[in-house]
Amino acid sequence: MIPGHIHHLQCVLCGTTYHPAEVPYACPSCGPLGVLAVHYDYEQIAPHISRAQLAADHNHTLWRYRALLPISYSHDTPPLEIGYTPLYPVKSLRDHLAMPNLWLKDDTRNPSASLKDRASIIAVMLAEGRTVACASTGNAASSLAVQAASFGLPCYIFVPQNAPRAKIVQLLMCGATVFSVAGSYDDAFDLCIEACNAFGWYNRNTGYNPYLVEGKKTVGLEIAEQLGWQVPDAVLVPTGDGCIISGVYRGFEDLYRLGMIDRLPRLIAVQSEGSPAIVRALEGDGIVRPYPANTVADGISVGMPRNGAMAVRHIRQSGGFAITVSDAEILSAEKELAMRTGVFAEPSGAASYAGLLRLLADGRLAKNERIVLLITGSCLKSIDAVAQSSGRVIPIAKGPEGMNMVTNKIHEE
Ligand SMILES: *Cc1c(COP(=O)(O)O)cnc(C)c1O
Ligand SMILES: [Zn+2]
Repeated sequence: MIPGHIHHLQCVLCGTTYHPAEVPYACPSCGPLGVLAVHYDYEQIAPHISRAQLAADHNHTLWRYRALLPISYSHDTPPLEIGYTPLYPVKSLRDHLAMPNLWLKDDTRNPSASLKDRASIIAVMLAEGRTVACASTGNAASSLAVQAASFGLPCYIFVPQNAPRAKIVQLLMCGATVFSVAGSYDDAFDLCIEACNAFGWYNRNTGYNPYLVEGKKTVGLEIAEQLGWQVPDAVLVPTGDGCIISGVYRGFEDLYRLGMIDRLPRLIAVQSEGSPAIVRALEGDGIVRPYPANTVADGISVGMPRNGAMAVRHIRQSGGFAITVSDAEILSAEKELAMRTGVFAEPSGAASYAGLLRLLADGRLAKNERIVLLITGSCLKSIDAVAQSSGRVIPIAKGPEGMNMVTNKIHEE
């Protein structure tokens, strides 16, 4: 059941508004790209959330923000702990960059090891016992499988034939039924919609189900609260379909509308040179068009961003912008981040750090600005991408001979 604090849904393309009970997913007249934005009744919400209430709340998961989630107040707490991930000041990185006001938001620390859990938990709750399904090649699928398993719900996943093997193993281990579609991601997406309609499954397709961005916004809510309600100057967000960056915007927007913060941060989308559709739209007429995608950062490898229209609007409204970085920059940023901080990100997750280095080099960010880097997913899910660039082991003998080799090596250094 859709709770009463949701006022209406509005199509990002044609602007038509709907009552939430009328439409389960995208705009009926615009089709799947007519993503619906969720609008709340803030007067109804205001009595249920405040800085003081949050300070007294001992639930340190995203559930502390349930007043702002599209879930009934009566719903049980999620079984796994999602969100309220650490916001690290990381002294070593601050010293290295001479940036005294830099933070890392470490969303590798979620049950399935990516930010996508924040969205999947919403889908699993809204499913209310129904089977859940989605089409995805990566973290969206694995987080849905993890969250569905935590509720004991059946889960169907549609992957394109070329999906990475490690991620498929993760899905199968959580008990998902995985259909490998002889076709592209788009073919898998369409088949998933058709199967959901035919069998009554609940659909978690990214940039189609309107409530997923509402789960992702909790990362924005957390950043504001963890900074003591002092809004940062900018948040750097790895961007593919544009759902996460829209979620970050929505989190800050909710707090602004409730009078809990006094401004919004600039949102900076970081894309790969091999997948630049949102950057191109922002540099051009604002219309998102498909671009062939080819990048090592599989989480942000997106030919036609499914939430592009909303992302472009939100980046502009925040006063932000979008940049691309090369795959080489992403891989070297990933290594440097791990070496300097211990935070182990997958290539997509480290794109925000690559973006920061590029913006500093180009003089587009000042070193004293208050900057948050969003780290969206763990490298443990994506080892192959860095196997070559991670470095080499040093083979040695066992026993005394081995000790000699260690000694020689140490003296060499
Ligand atoms: C999905 C994902 C992204 C990109 O999010 P979008 O909503 O597609 O822009 C970035 N990093 C990781 C690790 C992801 O899984
Ligand atoms: Zn529409």
